Amino acid sequence: MDTVTLNTGARMPIAGFGVYQIPPDETQAAVEAALAAGYRCLDTAVSYGNEEAVGAAIKASGLPREELFVTTKLWIQHAPASSVEDDTMLSFGNSLRRLGLDHVDLYLIHQPMGDYYSEWRAMQRLHRDGRARAIGVSNFHPDRLVDLIDHNEIAPAVNQIEINPFHQRAADVELMRERGVQPEAWAPFAEGRNDLFGNPVLAGIGAAHGKSVAQVVLRWLVQRGVAVVAKSVRADRMAENLDIFDFAVTDDDLARIA
Ligand code: NAP
Repeated sequence: MDTVTLNTGARMPIAGFGVYQIPPDETQAAVEAALAAGYRCLDTAVSYGNEEAVGAAIKASGLPREELFVTTKLWIQHAPASSVEDDTMLSFGNSLRRLGLDHVDLYLIHQPMGDYYSEWRAMQRLHRDGRARAIGVSNFHPDRLVDLIDHNEIAPAVNQIEINPFHQRAADVELMRERGVQPEAWAPFAEGRNDLFGNPVLAGIGAAHGKSVAQVVLRWLVQRGVAVVAKSVRADRMAENLDIFDFAVTDDDLARIA
């Protein structure tokens, strides 16, 4: 598995498995299948309601903790009467407990809403005490990302944003590179919208390489250094979505997708 190096020096597998919209009672089986398929990078969130099931799958897999890269996300904190910083610490502790872990590899602010400056101060503390090995953000547009970087001690290691062929975000990715923030794509398949899997340009490129549309899309991202989190509940598709490291899209393919 190819990896990317974060601004902490840690290496993150470039292809991860996401569990958004997998019902909690189906998540353990899906994550166990993903780990069996070869995934080592898992992406969950408080708001997905399935951290416990992800933790159960990790435990059942018997895989050494150091082989896994686990990400979870903080949901927007509404705490006008108390301290958002304290509530962030509390929420993180609850995530760790649900996951059955003593640290996560990456902890993200899920949305740039509410008092995310206080959230970030707490996350810097969690990073310093080692319980969040890396900290980052999600869904931050360039203005908010730059503001957060310029006015805090620790810069986000990752910004997880929607990137897919219908929403390419080239300028956003470029800015992240300039600022040392690793871009990570969510919904690389646009959740199947706009008939992505039947798209003639992507299908044509796939046919030329003996690869599927899904594989072309993932390759298009990782080849440009963008980490991906993809979701499937089907074992055959999990394997397909990992089988992207034995071919390369050409400059012409890249131009056609662009
Ligand atoms: P996605 O990965 O773009 O698309 C998932 C859809 O594609 C599912 O319907 C899946 O169906 C199908 N699929 C997967 N592989 C396929 C293949 N090889 N061939 C045909 N169909 C395939 O959408 P997503 O789940 O929204 O995004 C991925 C992950 O990103 C999430 O699970 C989550 O971890 C993360 N995410 C983050 C945010 C954020 O705000 N930070 C937002 C959304 C998502 P089956 O399951 O039936 O195979």
